[in-house]
Amino acid sequence: MIHPAELKLLREALATLAEGFEDLPAFTPEIDTGAVHAVLQRVAERMQDNYPYFHPQYAGQMLKPPHAVARIAYAMALWVNPNNHALDGGRASSALEKECIVELARMYGWENSLGHLTGGGTMANLEALWVAGLTNPGKRIIASEQAHYTHSRLSSVLNLPFSSVAVDAHGRMELVAIEDLLRNGDVGTIVATIGNTGFGSVDPLPGILELAEKYGARVHADAAYGGYFGLSSQIHASTRAAYDCLTRVDSIVVDPHKHGLQPYGCGCILFRDPDVGRFYKHDSPFTYFSSAELHLGEISLECSRPGASAVALWATQQLFPLVTDGQFSQWLDQCLLAARTLWDRLDTSVYYRPLMPPELDIVVYAVDAPDMAEASRRARQVFALAAAQNLHLAMVELPSALVSTYVPEMAVNTDTVTCLRSVLMKPEHRDWLDEIARILETAGASL
Ligand SMILES: *Cc1c(COP(=O)(O)O)cnc(C)c1O
Repeated sequence: MIHPAELKLLREALATLAEGFEDLPAFTPEIDTGAVHAVLQRVAERMQDNYPYFHPQYAGQMLKPPHAVARIAYAMALWVNPNNHALDGGRASSALEKECIVELARMYGWENSLGHLTGGGTMANLEALWVAGLTNPGKRIIASEQAHYTHSRLSSVLNLPFSSVAVDAHGRMELVAIEDLLRNGDVGTIVATIGNTGFGSVDPLPGILELAEKYGARVHADAAYGGYFGLSSQIHASTRAAYDCLTRVDSIVVDPHKHGLQPYGCGCILFRDPDVGRFYKHDSPFTYFSSAELHLGEISLECSRPGASAVALWATQQLFPLVTDGQFSQWLDQCLLAARTLWDRLDTSVYYRPLMPPELDIVVYAVDAPDMAEASRRARQVFALAAAQNLHLAMVELPSALVSTYVPEMAVNTDTVTCLRSVLMKPEHRDWLDEIARILETAGASL
């Protein structure tokens, strides 16, 4: 779980950090090491009660361990504990955040955009929809019925009407359904999900942009999970077409804490038009008095934010630049290939019925059974049997109609079917597929 060199690397980084403050009078905060030791032992024991998210045999929910460089940089920064709300609170980490944002925006071909890090995808989407509502006041937000549930909730927070859009058998928004809503004339913003959380399906962005232009709507891309896959050489042509036109949308959300190797607390919102900065204007009497330079708090809804997030992301992007021919993009390739391989394995198994072939790195599969109630029961059994062998999966409740598309001979006797879901977002998953498939077969055989 811990690489032997990690704590040494942290100590070395902290030593260099401390050199920057050597001219101060000596000061060492007091720690009651005995009491701290005792409580740390207790809390470490409490923390044992977790799924092993860091291990390749965790093949369930959308959880990816931060890279060591991110964890160490974050920990190092905690000794300063910078606040990226304002330059007074985090001068260096604000500069690092701006550099990170430039690199993230370049991934979408944007050279002069506005953006910043956020606590996560939810806050980032809130800002996107807030700006959408200010640009098209009172107008409707529409998003896929497979979009993250945050969009309907955030629309309610913002007091904007919301409608969801039907998806096809691949889990992508239907263009005809979008146009039906657009014809009503009250749609202000289309949310395109670039990699939805359930299936990893990518909404048909080229067609969405065409419709948005025709009807004068904004387009917001929620790429919280899928935002990095444009760097991969392994995505299929239709998926590539969606990534290629991300440069034309009005705003993009990408979560470095999803696929970007970061600890939680790192989302990002980017606006193509930097002029939206005018919506954030406020007069704070107390925050900004050290410099005429841009304070991130001037372009962010959140006030205090961990500067450590920016420090960790900057270090990660230095080591693994956001380019198409580097280590980071190769890792994304591995995830896509792992998902495709698992889908193939399940497809040849007598126990499982995989649903749509994965567009990114999420595989959703039913357990074969004569009817849907039994398939749901077996899915819960496989979940438990696999867990007993240290293979951790996730379950997902899907509409029977969708499952029927892929398993037409399974009798429909329930509205929904419990299926299994594996997000193969660790690059190591590919090397562990034999073991993952072996445990799945054993579990299937013992039903
Ligand atoms: C995870 C996710 C969100 C929510 O982001 P958080 O970082 O969990 O707040 C929104 N949209 C999509 C597509 C996501 O995958």
